[in-house]
Amino acid sequence: MSRYWSELARALSPYVPGEQPRIPGLVKLNTNENPFGPSPKAIEAVRAAADDALRLYPDPQSTRLREVLADYHHVAPDQVFVGNGSDEVLAHAFAGLLKQPRPVLFPDVTYSFYPVYCRLFGIEHIAVPLDARMRVRIDDYDDRGGAVVLANPNAPTGISLSRAEIEQLAARRADASVVIDEAYVDFGAETAIPLIGDHPNLLVVQTMSKSRALAGLRVGYAVGDAGLIEALTRVKDSFNSYPLGRLAQAGAIAALKDEAYFQETRLAIVRNRERLTASLVRLGFDVLPSSANFVFARHPGRAGSALAAALRERAVLVRHFSGPRVADFLRITVGSEAELDRLSAALNEILAES
Ligand code: PMP
Repeated sequence: MSRYWSELARALSPYVPGEQPRIPGLVKLNTNENPFGPSPKAIEAVRAAADDALRLYPDPQSTRLREVLADYHHVAPDQVFVGNGSDEVLAHAFAGLLKQPRPVLFPDVTYSFYPVYCRLFGIEHIAVPLDARMRVRIDDYDDRGGAVVLANPNAPTGISLSRAEIEQLAARRADASVVIDEAYVDFGAETAIPLIGDHPNLLVVQTMSKSRALAGLRVGYAVGDAGLIEALTRVKDSFNSYPLGRLAQAGAIAALKDEAYFQETRLAIVRNRERLTASLVRLGFDVLPSSANFVFARHPGRAGSALAAALRERAVLVRHFSGPRVADFLRITVGSEAELDRLSAALNEILAES
């Protein structure tokens, strides 16, 4: 803290991302990155875009990328917004939609960036408890609050709601905007995008960081009624007109066009998740049913923090959150088969010690 800080800077409590250490031979299962890497066509497109045109600003509205996304999701380009990672898209949604006289509702256990945005933008929120099985109950998101934001699948639990449940929520809460953060949807949940035509209050946010393996490129997007998209655009154009550089736009377009690679790698992660779940269950873990590229698991005999520390000593990184209800758990990213073998071997060793 320095005396030069603004009041805003003093009041913030920033999000703490998973660490990115440089440990040789590290098995990195802590930030839900994709073990398979981006489509080779996306890498090629980024390389091809690295030319003299970089002296020029990019298209501020990412028009071509928005057209390709619109095509992909069977919506119109004015129903698509793109940003520098879905974190930025979510930030604009908090500022442009979720900030209302009534507090925003989200689960007590969910993506920990949501309360950070509330602080930043001065938004009151109500943390709605998950039920005893760590599930979101949509009936709890009633008009005690204003707008709603849910991650589906939820993070860090990995548990998903059906499209029918999202539809019920959007219909019941037509008085407010409902933002669904689908960062992990491609690993086994149903997207709510087909509902946006009937529900002008529904905004669906997705990212290219997970299922497209482009976390380093920073591309996220939202799909919703053109009225909602306009609110995001107004916020963006009051903050940063050029959130996506030329390389990001080119890489994202190429990734969306490589459907075969997307399907192949997405399904490999789903298979590896089932393998990981089975091996954790064999080791005595309780594993929540995941529709994401991570699992949330606890061992009845070991504290989450101790397990995470013991894994780290063996150069295996997983994510541990402190706090009520989650401190027993580890969030483990679904890695490659080789990475999951290393994890199993390390856990075998740790659990064999008394
Ligand atoms: N939503 C959820 C639920 C996430 O876990 C993440 C990744 N930390 C994001 C959004 C943001 O991802 P990105 O900014 O890379 O699109």
